[in-house]
Amino acid sequence: MTQAITIKPVPAQEQGNIPSNPGFGAYFSDHMFVQSYTQGNGWGDAAIKKLEHFSIHPAAAVLHYGQEVFEGLKAYKRPDGGVNLFRPEENLRRFNESAVRVVMPEVDPAFHLQALKSLISLDKRWVPEETGSSLYIRPAMIATSAKLGLGASAEYLHFIITGPVGPYFKGGFNPVSVYISDSIRRAVIGGIGEAKTGGNYVASLYMSEKVAKLGYTQVLWLDAIHGKYVEEVGAMNICFVYEGSHIVTPKLSGSILAGITRDSVLKLAPTLGYEVSEELLDVNEILSDIKSGKITEAFGCGTAAVISPVGKLAFKGEEYVINDNQAGTVAKRLYDELTGIQYGSKEDRFGWTQDVGIAD
Ligand SMILES: *Cc1c(COP(=O)(O)O)cnc(C)c1O
Repeated sequence: MTQAITIKPVPAQEQGNIPSNPGFGAYFSDHMFVQSYTQGNGWGDAAIKKLEHFSIHPAAAVLHYGQEVFEGLKAYKRPDGGVNLFRPEENLRRFNESAVRVVMPEVDPAFHLQALKSLISLDKRWVPEETGSSLYIRPAMIATSAKLGLGASAEYLHFIITGPVGPYFKGGFNPVSVYISDSIRRAVIGGIGEAKTGGNYVASLYMSEKVAKLGYTQVLWLDAIHGKYVEEVGAMNICFVYEGSHIVTPKLSGSILAGITRDSVLKLAPTLGYEVSEELLDVNEILSDIKSGKITEAFGCGTAAVISPVGKLAFKGEEYVINDNQAGTVAKRLYDELTGIQYGSKEDRFGWTQDVGIAD
């Protein structure tokens, strides 16, 4: 199957200004990729064109029943001026797996990757130079059939937008404080927690807004059946370090999103001399191991922050401080190694990076 992409570049005089402090998710590059799908005809013509508003019917299924999926990855500027992607085929695989779970059509991975690379090379001036900054890439798919009767949509829109994002750690590599939710749950086994679909994120908002008011930056989610097993932290996977050398993360349960950063940590860490394991982690044991000092570090991992040290956990009115609320050496080492590979300043022994290629 060959699919063509029509490329309509935005004239230079109409291109946007690149912000110097973009923050996260508020600025967008000049172009977007779009492709529509209809049942019966499959994927239609694809285009890369000026980023613009969509026109969809007010009854579009995505607006009422949340039938949608998304991904998040980044493009990194290398010291030689080229641009790297990090394990993009993993994001594509997950995009299709998420799509299947919410009854949406799969995209052709090779074609999608080509579209993504063409889009980024066209918007290469939007890839920030500064280390720690990158171009965030957001592929998504939404259900567009105008139909209020509940059922899978017959029409979909697949699109990719990008935008520059600043360094996640503005004031250095600092630990976050985390509140363990004892009531609200993010996802349940058999539900949609494994899929990157909007419903999981709206389910988490109530608690994240609540803990922000209490001065915590992230929520730690426990499993929904026993209210006991550690699952994720915010929209990141979580790792604990025992005795400075053994990295432990919850094993994938069906309600945990399988992060690519998590997988990269599990593959990279043993080559740096750390032991790794995936286990069922009882929150009470974790908290007592923090108290006794057996747990020497904790950190979240995900594309946005890469590695985010956790300085304290709050549960049922008590606070548990980890590593004196300082970033630990294991977290820092993993952060340096992973970002080194992503930005092309360290050797990529795993074949994780791909060159975007530069369009004329
Ligand atoms: C995206 C995401 C992650 C991290 O996945 P990465 O592939 O490492 O970016 C973890 N948990 C949730 C809930 C997520 O949405």
